[in-house]
Amino acid sequence: MRQSHIRNFCIIAHIDHGKSTLADRLIESTGAMRREEMSEQVMDRMELERERGITIKAKAIRLNYTAADGNSYLLNLIDTPGHVDFSYEVSRTLAACEGAVLLVDVTQGIQAQTLANVYLAMEHNLEIIPTLNKVDLPSGEPERVMDEVESVLGFSEAETLRISGKTGVGVPELLETIVKRVPPPGGDPKAPLRALIFDSHYDQYKGVIAYLRVVDGRIKTGDRLKLMGQGTTLEVLEVGYFNPRECPVSSLEAGEVGYIATGLKTVGDCSVGDTVTSLVEPAHAALAAYRPAKPMVFAGIYPTQASDYHELREAMERLKLNDASLSYEMENSPLLGHGFRCGFLGLLHMDIVYERLEREFGLSLVVTAPAVSYYITRTDGEVITVVNPSELPAPADIARMEEPWVKIRILVPSNYIGTVMEMEREFGGIHRHTEFLGHATGTEGTQRVQLDYDMPLRSMLTSFYDQLKSRTNGYASLDYEFDGYRDARLVKIDVLVNNLLVDAFSRIVPPEQAQDVGKSLVHKLKEVIPRQLFNIPIQAAVGGRIVARADIAAKRKDVLAKCYGGDITRKRKLLEKQKEGKKKMKSIGQVEVPKEAFFSVLKTD
Ligand code: GDP
Ligand code: MG
Repeated sequence: MRQSHIRNFCIIAHIDHGKSTLADRLIESTGAMRREEMSEQVMDRMELERERGITIKAKAIRLNYTAADGNSYLLNLIDTPGHVDFSYEVSRTLAACEGAVLLVDVTQGIQAQTLANVYLAMEHNLEIIPTLNKVDLPSGEPERVMDEVESVLGFSEAETLRISGKTGVGVPELLETIVKRVPPPGGDPKAPLRALIFDSHYDQYKGVIAYLRVVDGRIKTGDRLKLMGQGTTLEVLEVGYFNPRECPVSSLEAGEVGYIATGLKTVGDCSVGDTVTSLVEPAHAALAAYRPAKPMVFAGIYPTQASDYHELREAMERLKLNDASLSYEMENSPLLGHGFRCGFLGLLHMDIVYERLEREFGLSLVVTAPAVSYYITRTDGEVITVVNPSELPAPADIARMEEPWVKIRILVPSNYIGTVMEMEREFGGIHRHTEFLGHATGTEGTQRVQLDYDMPLRSMLTSFYDQLKSRTNGYASLDYEFDGYRDARLVKIDVLVNNLLVDAFSRIVPPEQAQDVGKSLVHKLKEVIPRQLFNIPIQAAVGGRIVARADIAAKRKDVLAKCYGGDITRKRKLLEKQKEGKKKMKSIGQVEVPKEAFFSVLKTD
């Protein structure tokens, strides 16, 4: 296909504004798949993605479209992940496109990720097609949302489309608009090969499948290639595209989007953002600087039963094949036994990994409270990175401590400004900027407002997001990006149960919060640890100083006491039940703690 007849585009939107639904409608209306063939939402492949209604991995689908001008076009639709944890993948996806359909839900208006995505698309010089979605909904306010789109994003009413991804209204016009407004790809078919990897996954038969956009040159089956960032070399086993099924072809040319099967054993060798070139005739410069994924959030993952450690290790290895941004290292906890300290892109990424481990590998796990990584300059001059709070050196050994900060942007109706400001104070945020969006509407004259803050990433790992949602009655939306390390003044709280230090409960907090957090930990533990045959002190300490304490009084109880001697089967059942219960227990010294206790106490708040 001639380059002039190719259009590469993506759909960008805040979560739930209808990206996947529209993608399905486009696939259906271009006849790539009949309605009865389509499982719901073809673009969302993994079961987990479907359940959470999010798209974790970007994928590309080729659509054949005959336009009103009588010509047939190849439309490559590239699906982008919708969550901030995966913003690097989003930016690589945008780099593979010339245009973006920007969806704004008419019942919601512009949200935090709408803005973040539009700015990213503008940075990549994409042709943006502003589109109001869900116009079939009677509760929609298309005029108010149009006003926002015009005043905040600067798009005129004339260039903005109105569609329903659900009913298909306006979708034919959208397809025509994509052909007319999105420029065809540039690039030189005769130059040395350069292709951008914007996604990859592991296939057990063909090895790593890399999704790429060919910018210059061409790729054929059998070519020997090299990754300019990672240095990996490979031989192309297969070239093809998705429609949405795999369609092998003999080559992909400049301007085209498709996949190559590499035979590589882990996506870490072939990851998003790298440039592919020819081994024998390499290009001079990569398309963009390759940036390996950097984990920002850390937590310990342990099997509930020590004997499951080997299974957990295998499961981690298998997950890692498909997830270059997951990192893990063996870790040993006196309480929890053998496990892993894992690094994630963010909280959502952490939840996804944890759920997959339990669901796909049938493991029962304990996850410690998420923490950030701290840079510590010791008094002896050595600089160390601490990703496990219990390993923070004693205050006397710390010369300097630094922690990661984020820039955070909150969009909220103006009547919640006070609420958000108050919350930001509580969570250590520094106010940067306030901006009113659009015009005041409605009876109360409420208007939406954008609030920009700097905040320690540490605060994002607490109940911040849940509180923001509940205190603004669900109206706030949030976006954030990493903003480097800053000096920190923090202390470590240790928890002692029956005078034994329980490493998994250690937390790093501002000194003024130490007592409250200590109290809350101690009281939660007191609630969940069952009484034993002896008295148990539970203490929280900062340095050597106890900041909170509670005691669990001794209790005498014989499980058989109620079975007046006679009934032997009943007795045996009871004993067996008790044994079962024991299995689910962890012991801290002589103190037995049920598994649920960890979950409730390990969670931060
Ligand atoms: P995504 O998170 O952007 O991929 O959003 P989805 O495509 O998963 O849609 C989120 C929800 O909005 C789902 O319940 C869809 O059925 C619904 N939805 C999407 N588009 C439309 C539309 O045009 N009209 C209506 N009424 N609902 C829609
Ligand atoms: Mg989706």
